[in-house]
Amino acid sequence: MIKGSCYCGAVRFELLNKPSMMGTCHCSRCRKAGASTIVFVKQADLRWVQGRENVTLFQPEAPYKYGRCFCMTCGTSLGEILSQEDSFPIAANALDEDIGLKVQFHEHVAEKPDWYEICDEAPQSEVHPEQA
Ligand SMILES: [Zn+2]
Ligand SMILES: [Zn+2]
Repeated sequence: MIKGSCYCGAVRFELLNKPSMMGTCHCSRCRKAGASTIVFVKQADLRWVQGRENVTLFQPEAPYKYGRCFCMTCGTSLGEILSQEDSFPIAANALDEDIGLKVQFHEHVAEKPDWYEICDEAPQSEVHPEQA
């Protein structure tokens, strides 16, 4: 069982299985949202413990389509945790402990700021891997 929560503790959830993948998105939206490193979880693995009603959704204007969820008390980024999709990314910062995964890819590296240096061997794509 993998536990996750926000900074203030209002939001708590569990994952029944380990996420399938971890990666870092260097686009300006993820950076502003504080959700650059994400893990992909299955809807069926997500169990709410408390605070689902304390999660709010920011839906960006087109062409950006990914909704950004966060705790409305403390602002912790939670990725797309309110998604109805079968599989969706959540922010790795919301996980309470190590889950045995390391960053496996870097995307939107063209938008990466100079102050962030990639210091691992994971593959990099200038844009989204599926557009590259
Ligand atoms: Zn919170
Ligand atoms: Zn991004």
